Amino acid sequence: MDKIILTGDRPTGKLHIGHYVGSLRERVKLQESGEFKKIFIMIADAQALTDNFDNPEKIRASIKEVALDYLGVGLNPEKSVIFIQSQIPALAELTMYYMNLVTVARLSRNPTVKSEIQMRNFEANIPTGFLCYPISQAADITAFNATTVPVGEDQKPMIEQTREIVRKFNEIYEPVLTEPDILLSSNKSCLRLPGTDGKAKMSKSLGNCIYLSDSAEDVAKKVKSMYTDPTHIKVSDPGHIEGNTVFTYLDAFSKEEQFKKYLPEYNNLDELKEHYKKGGLGDVKIKKFLNAVLEEELSTIRERRREYEKDEAFVYDMLKKGTEIAREEAAKTLENVKKAMKIDYFSLS
Ligand code: ATP
Ligand code: MG
Repeated sequence: MDKIILTGDRPTGKLHIGHYVGSLRERVKLQESGEFKKIFIMIADAQALTDNFDNPEKIRASIKEVALDYLGVGLNPEKSVIFIQSQIPALAELTMYYMNLVTVARLSRNPTVKSEIQMRNFEANIPTGFLCYPISQAADITAFNATTVPVGEDQKPMIEQTREIVRKFNEIYEPVLTEPDILLSSNKSCLRLPGTDGKAKMSKSLGNCIYLSDSAEDVAKKVKSMYTDPTHIKVSDPGHIEGNTVFTYLDAFSKEEQFKKYLPEYNNLDELKEHYKKGGLGDVKIKKFLNAVLEEELSTIRERRREYEKDEAFVYDMLKKGTEIAREEAAKTLENVKKAMKIDYFSLS
């Protein structure tokens, strides 16, 4: 079976280093691997509207920002189809048919949806569209016959839900849908990168992000004020590694050769961690190192992004072309789905 990727991001703001280590960095690697027949990258504006329906301007403005972030990290429109979700009518139709296959109780049990409802204070006023977004995600994934979905850990329940829908659809109607696999980073720290405030997840909605488009000065400032270990007060105090954001980011970003370059007194991250745990290693030093490590990766992304910022026409043209390709692809799946459901009344065959 051909290997096909579908993944994407909600245009609710600029993308941050959590997105980068959780999904974007992996996507670029997969794009360059040549292993995949097709790669679809979706800007999920319809999904973003489920909890931002009253702020369409934010979604509209973020489309361009996300597209620039994509180009900045090295996604290449010659190799990956980059498109806008709301412009693909087949996705809405598929969502409607899949809705019959999922109970409200099952949706309400989804742990990611549950925590997002809490975070957004929806309580008894959950928009129906929001509760159903895992179903629309199943439509997105299956419309492109995706076999592989590279995402962060918070997406696990969504992929599980998609697999259930596929199995049910194929069983009731005909086996026309592909059951996708989630692809998670093998680096544990990348699965759910915490925010600079130490909170469980770096998230656009929580304002604890280092953005891919942040200037070098902004990154340095954010690193300087980052959460570490509140019990590590004097340099001589023993420190903790677990829950210490600086070390989590070093786990996600640092490479062994960077020690030779910036901290030659240590051979690797394990030695640095041991010293911190023993005491005698200050936060200023580890933060300076982290800043240098981050800059190595972020400066290239930032510069490439700035180049594309100058050419808005190119960005929209890329999105338009990608959307046209995606529309055709999704329409083919919808046709198969309707045939399987016996609602293809006017087809000649
Ligand atoms: P929102 O708050 O609007 O939901 P978000 O920051 O959670 O925004 P999404 O667009 O929902 O971002 O997620 C896009 C992709 O990035 C998904 O694959 C998700 O798993 C991944 N991702 C988001 N935040 C993180 C994080 N902190 N660490 C690792 N991966 C992440
Ligand atoms: Mg999210």
